[in-house]
Amino acid sequence: MVSIPTPEESRAGSLTLIGGELAFDFTNTSSGRGWPAPTEHLRSAENVVAWARHAKVLGPADADWLRGAVAADEALARRLLRRALDLREALYAIGVEIAAGSPAPAPQVDRLAKEHAACVAHAKLTPDGGRYIWSWTPREAAVEAVLGPIALSALATLGQADLTRVKRCEGEKCGWLFFDTTKNKSRRWCEMEVCGNRAKQKRLGARMRGG
Ligand SMILES: [Zn+2]
Repeated sequence: MVSIPTPEESRAGSLTLIGGELAFDFTNTSSGRGWPAPTEHLRSAENVVAWARHAKVLGPADADWLRGAVAADEALARRLLRRALDLREALYAIGVEIAAGSPAPAPQVDRLAKEHAACVAHAKLTPDGGRYIWSWTPREAAVEAVLGPIALSALATLGQADLTRVKRCEGEKCGWLFFDTTKNKSRRWCEMEVCGNRAKQKRLGARMRGG
């Protein structure tokens, strides 16, 4: 049987991951920002878990466990969704300003720093190949296991990357953010096949109408 997603169904578990950084993929769990009627893909804690699995923040076994945990524990579900959306909104506000060539807004930077500190308080420094990384045990710190890696990705980008590569897709009704890794920083779209072609068709249509 073919299942056709209804408009109410979230695409959190299947969104294209084009952000180039986990933190930007996370900001792109809302579509059409800055335009009328944006689409929210994180409408429940279950959506957050589905995205975390999709983006490989959680492995399948941990994601299955957490999906069961948020279904059974309303307080945990509320906490996960609220903190996820708080962090995402902070990251989006930071990304939009940086993409526009402005400094990141201080209140949102503070929120990121606080969420990072809260997450790291539950992390362990563990060996991974030849180095050490922060790692979380979802069964001990479920919210932090999801948000910790995202906050780390944001901090690493802010601290080490060339911030002129942070961009916002120019596409209509998109608003997605990404880290442009092209050699000459020429990327304009989340996906050429989506927003790039749409813009091309629009230009073509306008030209034809103009005669
Ligand atoms: Zn786009």
